[in-house]
Amino acid sequence: MIPDFFQFHLPTKILFQAGISKDFSNELQSLGLSRLLVITDKPLRNTGLIEPILLGLKNAGVESVVVFDDVPPNSEVRVVKKACELGKSIDAQGIVAIGGGSVMDTAKAANILLTHGGDLVNDYSGAQTLTTSLNPLIAIPTTSGTGSEVTKVAVILDEERGVKLSFLDRFLYPTMAILDPELTLSMPPKLTAMTGMDALTHAIEAYTSLEFNPFSDALSLRAISLIRKFISKAVAEGGNLEARSAMMVASNLAGIAFDHAMVGVVHSMSHATGAIAHVPHGLANSILLPWGMEYNFDASHARYAELAPSLGIDSSKMSAEGAAREVIETVRQMRTELKKICGLADNLREAGVKEEDLPRIAALAVEDGSSFYNPREVVEEEVLEKLKKAY
Ligand code: NAD
Repeated sequence: MIPDFFQFHLPTKILFQAGISKDFSNELQSLGLSRLLVITDKPLRNTGLIEPILLGLKNAGVESVVVFDDVPPNSEVRVVKKACELGKSIDAQGIVAIGGGSVMDTAKAANILLTHGGDLVNDYSGAQTLTTSLNPLIAIPTTSGTGSEVTKVAVILDEERGVKLSFLDRFLYPTMAILDPELTLSMPPKLTAMTGMDALTHAIEAYTSLEFNPFSDALSLRAISLIRKFISKAVAEGGNLEARSAMMVASNLAGIAFDHAMVGVVHSMSHATGAIAHVPHGLANSILLPWGMEYNFDASHARYAELAPSLGIDSSKMSAEGAAREVIETVRQMRTELKKICGLADNLREAGVKEEDLPRIAALAVEDGSSFYNPREVVEEEVLEKLKKAY
């Protein structure tokens, strides 16, 4: 199905190779940067992954580098400010973000302040608030899930007001995404599983969102087939570079897909679950994905049916409804498999959510920006019903 109108724009240059994060000097030199702010987090620094990348920057002729490694899992406005201040201390010309979604989102927000000035990034929140481009940002993901290295989105917590600020702007696209699957070898099994399921959620929701288009469809389908084939292997055999490579590429494809097509009710519910019960983004998506798919069954079963071959289902003799049910069942089986391998929670109770918080989560989910792109209206009572089932 071809929509009446769509557009596709991706200014981020993507490079993939095992080991490439240690030496991408040609690319660095083409950007002509000699003073850089590196943003990462402490646990990652402790893995020893960061130092070889810093050495690579030095060997490439970067004269001055400062490292900010204080990014927490849900980054905050004050963290963005501190990172920016450190960058200003060397008059940084650009940023290198090395980490998962939290680090990359922090870097995007810090880049706004570093380029345009100001004290608090709050002033720039919302959609399309920027009028000119930002300093170069090189994103080096170390998880395979969020796709933030190729999206125009960042989410930062305003800790004073207790709300999550969204930034959505074409100038937030990283200049370059360096995909080095070796950086993900150190991910523990549960993190691998939840981030992988995050990528699957991006791909499936992009495929059924109101804004889907032929480009996002193609990216989603490839991402789904790679994840189906490799997620369990990546979780069970963390050192398997083939599986790690496939998951990293899949996450990137899914990131581009949802950046262009947006997401839906699964994200509405998981954003709210994250805000109220502090469940990690990927875990919330993993738990809520089949329930969100059921929520959209009537509106989307024909589109779900199209996903069957990518999930390894022979649907040639099935009705569209039958194939769609099989697709949802396969997503459930994937979670069961992951639970068996690494103990990933498959319900909200195990994820630490309090039952009495479900009504608040449902109310917040309805207001979430993702709800606008869902193929059917997001209704509070019905969301609550699904949340109870996911509990
Ligand atoms: P994360 O960045 O919060 O990292 C989780 C933990 O994993 C951290 O402790 C980190 O140190 C550790 N870690 C990261 N890489 C590792 C590695 N290779 N080995 C060992 N440990 C490693 O997790 P995430 O799931 O990548 O990101 C979640 C965040 O991304 C959320 O804040 C979410 O809102 C955001 N997000 C952003 C986008 C976007 O497009 N901007 C999309 C989806 C999610």
